[in-house]
Amino acid sequence: MRPYLSAVIPVYNEEDNLWPLFDRLVAVLDAIGKPFEIVFTNDGSADRSSAILRELHERRPNEVRVIEFNGNFGQHMAIMAAFEYVRGEIVVTLDADLQNPPEDIPKLLEKIEQGFDVVGGYRRDRQDTWFRRNASRFINLIRARITRIEMRDQGCMLRAYRRHIVDNIATSGEVSTFIPALAYSFAANPTEIEVQHAPRAAGHSKYHLYNLIRLNFDLMTGFSLVPLQVFTMLGFAVSLLSAVLVIYLLLQRIFVGPEVQGVFTLFGIMYFLVGLGIFGLGIIGEYIGRIYLEVRKRPRFVIREVLQRLDGQ
Ligand code: UDP
Ligand code: MG
Repeated sequence: MRPYLSAVIPVYNEEDNLWPLFDRLVAVLDAIGKPFEIVFTNDGSADRSSAILRELHERRPNEVRVIEFNGNFGQHMAIMAAFEYVRGEIVVTLDADLQNPPEDIPKLLEKIEQGFDVVGGYRRDRQDTWFRRNASRFINLIRARITRIEMRDQGCMLRAYRRHIVDNIATSGEVSTFIPALAYSFAANPTEIEVQHAPRAAGHSKYHLYNLIRLNFDLMTGFSLVPLQVFTMLGFAVSLLSAVLVIYLLLQRIFVGPEVQGVFTLFGIMYFLVGLGIFGLGIIGEYIGRIYLEVRKRPRFVIREVLQRLDGQ
């Protein structure tokens, strides 16, 4: 029989968080009183996470399932893999670091039961650094403008999905993707609710500036062609402007005579244009990179082992 609820948790070096998370989560799910499963994906942790996940599986062998990756494939691929395994009617994702309180899960379920197929959370009093909060606000704004995705807080991973949404995501086969945005693109009736947010319980964030920038490029190029289109328009505008400049310089040369001054202005303009050109190449490169990843058809992740006990259910 299918469990009512599957909780999906990506884990990357979270040794000090797993037991406290497990205790709180199981308390909440037991209280709901319906069959559930917890699917952890160990995303190539180098600490004791793997051993601890095994202990959790042994503690509740019928409920806890563990997918062991062969390396670090990233948070969204960890969730993707779990989506291929989950059996629940409703699937909830949350982080392993206790920033998303498990106690909020019943609120998400209530909304799903009301008929929404995707329930997103937006974080109240987000407990992250000033830089992260403001960078997110900025990226949320851009995303809202260039994609059709309406989400108050794209970075919040405490979310609930109906079964068919998860099936669509799992079979989409996308390589570098952003799960909440993908879910949104399959949703017929999404909604959002406010959820709590706590400071990370132990350890430190797995996202540095570089992978944050990567993740957001994946989001923009994975869900919108606007960056390319903006660039075409920009190229068009710049060519118009340079045409005006050339005509102006030509007229000046005819009527005023050859000029020597203004060389640096020209350099300034040139560097700007060169910069713009390189930026444009970069954007095209992002899309070509995506196409390359897709056509290469390498596995998106490699699973080393799955701990689960499916009999007796
Ligand atoms: N995570 C993962 N693989 C990664 C990076 C992160 O599975 O490559 C997991 C991590 O263990 C946590 C969740 O994704 O459960 C969110 O990561 P983190 O708390 O570091 O991100 P932040 O809260 O700083 O955005
Ligand atoms: Mg976190």
